[in-house]
Amino acid sequence: MSTPFLETPIAYLKGVGPTRAELLKKELGIFTVGDLLTLFPFRYVDRSKFHQIAEIRDENSFVQLKARIVHIQTAGSPHRQRLMATARDNSGEIELVWFQGVKWILEMLSPQQEYVIFGKPAIFNGRWSISHPELEIPTTQPLPLNEVIRPIYNSTEKLKLKGLDHKGIGKLVKTILLNEKFIMPESLTPEIVNRLRLLNRQKAFVNIHFPQSPDLLQKAQARLKFEELFYIQLRLAKQRYGRLQKHDGHRFLKIGNYVNQFYHHHLTFQLTSAQKRVIKEIRADLGSGNQMNRLLQGDVGSGKTLVALMTMLIALDNQFQSCLMAPTEILAKQHFKTISGMLKGLDVMVKLLTGSTRPAERRIIQNGLQSGEVHLLIGTHALIEEKVKFNHLGLVVIDEQHRFGVAQRAKLWEKNVVTPHILVMTATPIPRTLAMTLYGDLDTSVIDELPPGRKSIVTRHFYEPDRGKVFKFIREKVHEGRQVYIVFPLIKESEKLDLKNLIDGYQAVIQEFPSPQYAVSMVHGKMKQQQKDDEMKNFVEKHTQIMVATTVIEVGVDVPNASVMVIENAERYGLSQLHQLRGRVGRGGDQSYCILLSGYELSADARKRISTMVRTNDGFEIAETDLQLRGPGDLQGTQQSGIIDLRIADIVKDEKILKYARNIASEIIGKDPGLTNENNDILAQHLLAMDLKQQNWGLIS
Ligand code: ADP
Ligand code: MG
Repeated sequence: MSTPFLETPIAYLKGVGPTRAELLKKELGIFTVGDLLTLFPFRYVDRSKFHQIAEIRDENSFVQLKARIVHIQTAGSPHRQRLMATARDNSGEIELVWFQGVKWILEMLSPQQEYVIFGKPAIFNGRWSISHPELEIPTTQPLPLNEVIRPIYNSTEKLKLKGLDHKGIGKLVKTILLNEKFIMPESLTPEIVNRLRLLNRQKAFVNIHFPQSPDLLQKAQARLKFEELFYIQLRLAKQRYGRLQKHDGHRFLKIGNYVNQFYHHHLTFQLTSAQKRVIKEIRADLGSGNQMNRLLQGDVGSGKTLVALMTMLIALDNQFQSCLMAPTEILAKQHFKTISGMLKGLDVMVKLLTGSTRPAERRIIQNGLQSGEVHLLIGTHALIEEKVKFNHLGLVVIDEQHRFGVAQRAKLWEKNVVTPHILVMTATPIPRTLAMTLYGDLDTSVIDELPPGRKSIVTRHFYEPDRGKVFKFIREKVHEGRQVYIVFPLIKESEKLDLKNLIDGYQAVIQEFPSPQYAVSMVHGKMKQQQKDDEMKNFVEKHTQIMVATTVIEVGVDVPNASVMVIENAERYGLSQLHQLRGRVGRGGDQSYCILLSGYELSADARKRISTMVRTNDGFEIAETDLQLRGPGDLQGTQQSGIIDLRIADIVKDEKILKYARNIASEIIGKDPGLTNENNDILAQHLLAMDLKQQNWGLIS
């Protein structure tokens, strides 16, 4: 669904050339002329409106000013010169700064001249300034209507150096739109376009980049958002329909000895009613003749593992093997230990296979899997990468914690003639809108109840200067025999600094809690696996009371005796990560605590994240807030970034459009599951084109 012009390599577009083309590829994934058109502006500026300097409030958001240059000066050494100019309007002053092209700008700038100034203000040395602003001499003519709304594109430092800032990109886009060969073929059926009164595709692309009016901009956005969400939903609806039609699932009808023995003689507690309900839902799937593809959501500690275990025993009662995959080796080991423990005395052969399993042991396991002696295999995701063969694999449980591994699931499916049943467990409650987009082809079960007797974790926020109080609290808990986590952020972008921070923090803790009276463990991602395991083991076996760690402990460890979680620089984490970390405590019978430490200076979002944590333990509420705060367009690359790569739609703000898209997609698939009806040709073709373009559909990061 493209034209030769849109397929033209971007290098051949006037104004691009090989160097810029290479950068566009590397930095933004733009290969063709058509690709560039899907780089939608991330915001627009109304050029007829001006800000007052005194009214500037936000960093990182573009402003347009009309101000006079009142002072110009240069500083720095001759080859690292910088230019500073002061601009003034009748409300105040702002600094303009250039680090590059100083000589040229110096020649161009006229003192006392009034300019239209455009750029992103930031606070520097306590003053507002804009670096590398755009300057224009104001015109007295009113702007033509189609130039009032100005698109702003995301660019990168490297592209900017080659003249492709948001303005440069806009210019290229304009070149495309003005080319006589520019035609954007329609991608939706006339029925849909008419029914929803959507703008046609050509008009939508023109107006998303260079809106003729605010009204047309809004219509262009609506059209393109719908299209984006519709195709996601159409694909999911098609997959789901295909799955339900196939009737190719193993049928597990029997509840036999394994389940009964376990349930009546091994389980030391009552199942919660949520667990019972979910097991019922799973049993219905397993007996249906269709392949199960179910997402099991439940907060940390809600008892998902137990549900998974019961499901695996059902498989076993029907003479099928199961495997359980965990996101990390630590977690795989933990599952192995827990599950082996719970099955003690039952005639079930459980094996652990990870990257560090020795070849000899590996061979034994492999033989056991092929002969059918091994009933349950537990391991990391590496299980599916390796040449592991089963005798009759009937069920795959995937513990994703808060990772999303749809691509890996697909891989697993290809391996088997009859696809095993799939149960995906996730500890991050997924908001409804997100689940609809991300897991639309899965059925969902929710455990919305914690086992009885759990004390809810008390969460408190402390500012840095109150660290003394925090240490005092830790000491009290350690003297009561409890154990404590102290977690430091370790983020790729600032890895070196973070690591130093962690080591400094460790030193401080050791000073506060010296040996031999106390013992402190440390674990971080840069350590050797063996060393990590040893430190972990020391903590698990209570040889150490305090564990200083990076977020490597976020998934995995289960130390019921640990009842205090201290999170350093709490402002730097995303909400769901904070919630995951907090979930490491509160696993035993003791009252547990989570302490969030931060500096005084907090952004509005950080404040909201922290106050949400202090207010609630409810994973769903936290997930909703998280999604609202982060949104998919979030650019804070240093935190967990948004999960879905949507170009224009926003699953929070565009929930309504998403629902339309979903309903229409399932209506269409309901009537024409294979999209073979002539009327739906256009949809089938577009779907196919998207598949070809991105064999590894990159919806999930
Ligand atoms: P999740 O995997 O959802 O984080 P787990 O399955 O690990 O949770 O369960 C957390 C703890 O609660 C485990 O120690 C488990 O044995 C226990 N548990 C699970 N279900 C129940 C229940 N119904 N009653 C009491 N304890 C339970
Ligand atoms: Mg678990």
